[in-house]
Amino acid sequence: MAETRVGKTKTGTSVRREAVAESGTPAITFDRVGVTYGRGNKTTTALVDFNLRVAVGETVALLGPSGSGKSTALNALAGFVRPATGAVRLAGRDVTDLPPAKRGIGVVLQSYALFPHMRVYDNVAFGLTSRRVPRGEVASRVAEALDMVGMAAYGKRLPRELSGGQQQRIAIARALAIRPSVLLLDEPLAALDAQLRQSMLAELQRLKEALPDTAMLYVTHDQGEALALADRIVVMKDARLMDVDTAENLWKRPPTSFTAAFLGGANLIPCTVGRVVGTSALVTFAHKTVSVEAPQPTVGRADWAPQSKALLCIRPHAVKVVGLGDRDALRAKVNAAVWRGATTRLTVSVHGLPDQVIDVDVPGATTYDVGAEIGLRFPEPAGVLVQCP
Ligand code: ADP
Ligand code: MG
Repeated sequence: MAETRVGKTKTGTSVRREAVAESGTPAITFDRVGVTYGRGNKTTTALVDFNLRVAVGETVALLGPSGSGKSTALNALAGFVRPATGAVRLAGRDVTDLPPAKRGIGVVLQSYALFPHMRVYDNVAFGLTSRRVPRGEVASRVAEALDMVGMAAYGKRLPRELSGGQQQRIAIARALAIRPSVLLLDEPLAALDAQLRQSMLAELQRLKEALPDTAMLYVTHDQGEALALADRIVVMKDARLMDVDTAENLWKRPPTSFTAAFLGGANLIPCTVGRVVGTSALVTFAHKTVSVEAPQPTVGRADWAPQSKALLCIRPHAVKVVGLGDRDALRAKVNAAVWRGATTRLTVSVHGLPDQVIDVDVPGATTYDVGAEIGLRFPEPAGVLVQCP
């Protein structure tokens, strides 16, 4: 297969993915999947008309707040939940009615779900022995899987003799042992402490590079994990897919105010659109006119009509604090200053923008008195336009 020979550099991987995308069959297909829990008048609609295709070797993150339907989507693909409508396909084959064990998917959950009475070796071997893989081959595949997660020396331990991070590595090895072409991970790092999460994240990145033909669906409510791992991010809200694109596109030109706020946190300032030329627009807010980026209208996105209301999306780090005498400064008042280590997060009210607070990140541990008057300067362009919800 020509695809597998392409290198693991970013460019190589994306070239290979494009080739796969062109050649057709996605590894994962959600086709208008709907899921409802419960019966009668006590039902919860957990997933509505969910469509997604994940290419061979691609990693897609499902990102969204708690209860938005992320796990439901993953469980529908794994076979733990039966869709009320629609179909799920693996490599083009409809598996909607197939039992979970017959789907050949690797699944890693937040609660490692290891068998407590079984040694690491037997935990990892479980999927293989139940598939009647010959004993000699089981041994080599368990060794290979443990090696991939750096746990080769731990086969004889019991789960309770391992740390949380080590247990999660074993859970990953168990999922990999069956050599799945599709790997599903549901908040795999959520139970770990912050420092361990960082090192496990780096390991998952390595794992992803080591498995260039494995499609991964990675459920998380943590935008940092999604940005670090995913080729594309699906933003979920209220049982629906809100937006889907590369992390870079969603970050730079968020299609919706929800995604702008959820992915990285953004100030969304109501403004009035003025002149638009190409992808550049003048907008007015707080009696000031600034130039902003106006993304090209795409499918489902309205044009930027002059005099229409829109939101100016600007990240907290992009706003600069200047002296009140600065010519173009907006006058603002500090409501709160919270030191976060490398930066201090100011929450400010801007004159002429009632009912709106703006977050501003300034470097270091600068001290500001609550109530102090400061000047704010926006960059050029001052941010990117987002449609009002
Ligand atoms: P997420 O993973 O994004 O936090 P879920 O997919 O777990 O969200 O849940 C989506 C919605 O479905 C939520 O309102 C949740 O309470 C509900 N839900 C999830 N699982 C069940 C279940 N087994 N029975 C009833 N309701 C459920
Ligand atoms: Mg969940």
